Amino acid sequence: MPITDTLIKQILADAPIQHRNLSSPVEEAPDDCLLPSDIFDDAPDIEIFHERAPDSGKSFPESPASVSVLGTYRFMASPGMITLYRGNIETYWKTHIRHAQQQFPFVTTKDAERVLQLLVYSVYQHERFHYVCDFCRRLFGGSFDRWHEEALAVAWEWQWLRSQERWNSFSGLMHPTLRRIVLQSLFDHRSPGYRDWRQFAGQAAFHTAVTAYLYPASAQTFADTGFNFAAWAVAHVPDDANRAWDERIGS
Ligand SMILES: [Zn+2]
Repeated sequence: MPITDTLIKQILADAPIQHRNLSSPVEEAPDDCLLPSDIFDDAPDIEIFHERAPDSGKSFPESPASVSVLGTYRFMASPGMITLYRGNIETYWKTHIRHAQQQFPFVTTKDAERVLQLLVYSVYQHERFHYVCDFCRRLFGGSFDRWHEEALAVAWEWQWLRSQERWNSFSGLMHPTLRRIVLQSLFDHRSPGYRDWRQFAGQAAFHTAVTAYLYPASAQTFADTGFNFAAWAVAHVPDDANRAWDERIGS
């Protein structure tokens, strides 16, 4: 099972929303179960998560320095390492639910699970993008630009989420008001680098920037062809069946 799904299961297993059916009337559909408005009252304010430190580098402490560190990518020392931090992601999720409930009190248990999926997959895709960058630097040379790479990694989260908005996906099924609130706070970045992601929100701008960052020579290499290096890199470098990274769930 991918670590994203394992982590989602672990967090939900411990969440109080899982005990809902014990006290619910039998005839009540699970989707109709609204979360109590005070269920995550002890979660921190969302502002904490708007400030992020770079999460791609040579090494990271075993325990994250701040609650806003949700995942990290450690450069390849044969192999690279993606870590998702369970405790911080759980807090991040509770904070999102609490934040959303303040504007939209109709958050159901099922939608709360979808919010968790959205957050976990976003963090994971962010770290995989850092892997794409590390991998390409090893293939093609190029230098590491910590802040620019953060902007592109957030832009990739956005690109990836947009591709998941089909009607039957976790994101497509979520109540539209809730989805808008969650996406707004998820992409509200204030830190250097991170906050510049909107420049690359459009797919064409994103592809141009990724190509320029990872493999500028591709303009000559593939001149007069329709080959899009950036599209290829984000789709094929992080290949689950043929990969140079490991991944784990941190505490
Ligand atoms: Zn990052």
